[in-house]
Amino acid sequence: MVEQRIPFFRPTIEDDDIEAVAGALRSGWLTTAGNARAFEAELAEHCGAPFVAVMNSATAALHLALEAWGIGPGDEVITTPYTFCATANVVLHTGADVVFADVRERDFNIDPERIAAAITPRTKAIIPVHFAGEPCAMDEILALARPRGIMVLEDAAHAIGALYRGRTIGSIADATAFSFYATKNMTTGEGGALASFDEQFSERVRKLTLHGMSRDALRRYEAGGSWRYDVEEIGFKDNLTDTAAALGRSQLRKLGQLQDGRTSAVERYFANLRDEERLILPSVDEENRSAWHLFVVRVREGAGVGRDEVIRRMTEAGIGTSVHFIPVHTFSAYQRLGRWKIGDFPVAERLFAGAISLPLFPSMTAAEVDDVCDVLRAALRA
Ligand SMILES: *Cc1c(COP(=O)(O)O)cnc(C)c1O
Repeated sequence: MVEQRIPFFRPTIEDDDIEAVAGALRSGWLTTAGNARAFEAELAEHCGAPFVAVMNSATAALHLALEAWGIGPGDEVITTPYTFCATANVVLHTGADVVFADVRERDFNIDPERIAAAITPRTKAIIPVHFAGEPCAMDEILALARPRGIMVLEDAAHAIGALYRGRTIGSIADATAFSFYATKNMTTGEGGALASFDEQFSERVRKLTLHGMSRDALRRYEAGGSWRYDVEEIGFKDNLTDTAAALGRSQLRKLGQLQDGRTSAVERYFANLRDEERLILPSVDEENRSAWHLFVVRVREGAGVGRDEVIRRMTEAGIGTSVHFIPVHTFSAYQRLGRWKIGDFPVAERLFAGAISLPLFPSMTAAEVDDVCDVLRAALRA
């Protein structure tokens, strides 16, 4: 094993985060309670949507949004093949069909023209994924969805804090899912949230996180609360613990600082790699503000070396990397459904063939970025 000099990701957990969790542990409330409710209010304030429900993952947020809209067998949901498997898995869990629409070469994001071609009378929802934190073409997507009564659910697992044409991600579509997984832009270890503009929908989603019970555990156990409750629908067990919520509140307070760290590293990458003709660097849309969850470069076809070999050389030199994403339709479980062939989404497949996610995290120093760039340049030539 080579010693890893620079990891792909290093979490930022500071003394105030640890104190926040310790405080939650000392309070005696371990499961969903006051910290979870306060975290919801603070997220709503941050993302500009009036109603937020927190839960144990973005996967749950995506799933429960579809459930609460009553999407199921016979329905179709359009999304991108260039995403984490969760985005498509949850559609299949509802019993609906997933319909993939290919991405744009420019920014790896779902192509509105491909969405338009994929819409049928059975289409009930569209799930755009803001890849690497760069917002999708939301105006074009909403223009397709609104007149047809199709719901738009943003997968913003990468995009908390991003701006689309000056608007905060979370304040744009019918509902928006955020992830607080360990490597995301802010973390609760595992966690997620669903932002929306519909109070009844948000309440139903929150109820579905706790078995569909009529009142939550806090009210059941607090002084004067009643033991009696109803199960109003068959729900799930997707609630967020109060210890996790306490960490989320602490992380949200420093999100700006975490984002500044990411942005500085990204600026250094651009300055350093600008003249590297064997690479295609991420595109920047000046009208948006990316959350820079990932810095994904592409090894050019004809560079004389392939992506896998570049990664092998970087690993050998002690630099962590990753690949986002293996197109979902190429996985064996999806191939076994017999609905997609390799080659069906040529842009996604071509982007994947060259993609490397370079190390990116808030505490990354300029020297570390330079080190990664030196190793990368050498790996492209060796
Ligand atoms: C991480 C991720 C998810 C899932 O988030 P969890 O909180 O781990 O469930 C969904 N979509 C995308 C694009 C992701 O990167």
